[in-house]
Amino acid sequence: CGIVGVLGRHEVSPGILEALRRLEYRGYDSAGIATVNNGVLDRRRAVGKLVNLSDVLVHTPLPGKSGIGHTRWATHGAATEDNAHPHLAGRVAVVHNGIIENFRALRAELAAEGIAHQTQTDTETVALLTALHLDRGMTPVAAARATLARLEGAFALAFLFAGEDDLMIAARRGSPLAIGHGVGEMYLGSDALALAPLTDQITYLEEGDHAILTRAGVTVFDAGGAAVQRGVATIRLDA
Ligand code: GLU
Repeated sequence: CGIVGVLGRHEVSPGILEALRRLEYRGYDSAGIATVNNGVLDRRRAVGKLVNLSDVLVHTPLPGKSGIGHTRWATHGAATEDNAHPHLAGRVAVVHNGIIENFRALRAELAAEGIAHQTQTDTETVALLTALHLDRGMTPVAAARATLARLEGAFALAFLFAGEDDLMIAARRGSPLAIGHGVGEMYLGSDALALAPLTDQITYLEEGDHAILTRAGVTVFDAGGAAVQRGVATIRLDA
């Protein structure tokens, strides 16, 4: 239900948790964060309020300067820790808002390749499909694009990759996404309010866009795959 991403200069888990708190108003049943640390993906998740996730992080800190976070409002699969995002498969981590309408067909396709799901979520299907593309030798960007080309429904997605400390991919189809510009840092959020403590420099993705983020900036591509300019607005929030 809420998405956050940070490519930072410092440890990102605390800032991601704070940004997730600013998305609490949307409602959620579980939450999680994944980071890339020394090239390795790891995650922490918890059912219930964000305080549960923050307790987990106190006991088992999650280091890393690149990360994605999520508050989930379950649509497919119960509100359990196993079904909470981020979903990991092979070398990719995925967070997702909304619904992948054709996930059953994709799930069957993956099963035919001998790839089994561990959860009931439509989101795990996105992660497994992307992991398959990576295993077949695609670059992270190509793998994410190949996955996005297969998805139907209304959703927002963010991808993070093992071995890629300076890369995050985001896609908007039906669910808003805001990109925040920092100084040597870049951010992603379901809305600008989530990013308010981090930056007031916001680029809104338009319908069908996907974005490739590094610490140096963002490149946005439209639904047709063409690189496009999306303006940066200075957002005034009294929150
Ligand atoms: N459909 C996904 C799930 O049930 C995402 C739900 C959401 O937007 O939080 O896990």
